Amino acid sequence: MPQPSLPVPATATLTYMRSKVSEADAMLRQGLANLSQPSDMIRLASRLLDLCNDVSDHLNHLCIVKPVACRNGCDTCCRSLIQVNPIFAHLALDHAQRTFTLDRLEQLYQRLLTGVPFCPFLFDGACSIYEQRPMVCRGYYSLDVALCLSGTFCEGNPAYQGDDGHAAHHYRIFLFVLEKRLEQIEKEFGIAPGPVFLHEAVYALWDRSVK
Ligand code: SF4
Ligand code: SF4
Repeated sequence: MPQPSLPVPATATLTYMRSKVSEADAMLRQGLANLSQPSDMIRLASRLLDLCNDVSDHLNHLCIVKPVACRNGCDTCCRSLIQVNPIFAHLALDHAQRTFTLDRLEQLYQRLLTGVPFCPFLFDGACSIYEQRPMVCRGYYSLDVALCLSGTFCEGNPAYQGDDGHAAHHYRIFLFVLEKRLEQIEKEFGIAPGPVFLHEAVYALWDRSVK
């Protein structure tokens, strides 16, 4: 007969997250030390997101899992202009240029040119770069879609996200810590761009790539 599983102590979750931040730290330092062309940056961003995916999966085993309300086509959280670390702008543009149809690419370019009051990667209510969406987007979740629809995007509102250490909550914290660590390491390497608006950064990169 299967034994009931014991609850995992919160310290185990913290220890795990710390070890993954250290792993990411080493990966970033090595990657930034060996940057020689834009594709290195794109590869590094992609590897970092792979690590984030692993953490998300693992936290679902380590912590209690609360049902989040997020669904494909639920897009209130994408109806604002987001700020990201520039490495994710590189990755977003690369992904779009490799996977979009010419029509969609043209649509994206026109959005960047004229400006839209929502994330330019939002098409038909869904993220068009979902697999490679920036780290900051991965931390957004809600336990109650009605709160999002009413515009209650408040990280301090426990009804919005819950505050009792469930998997999505821990993952959000992990992503936040990792973003800060990334900024700190970039500063050490003399790269200190800080967060940039995704739409502005993608437009600038695109413009540069065709000149
Ligand atoms: S965070 Fe809110 S708006 Fe965004 S997908 Fe989840 S439920 Fe929908
Ligand atoms: S990149 Fe995707 S997930 Fe992030 S805000 Fe834009 S559409 Fe939403």
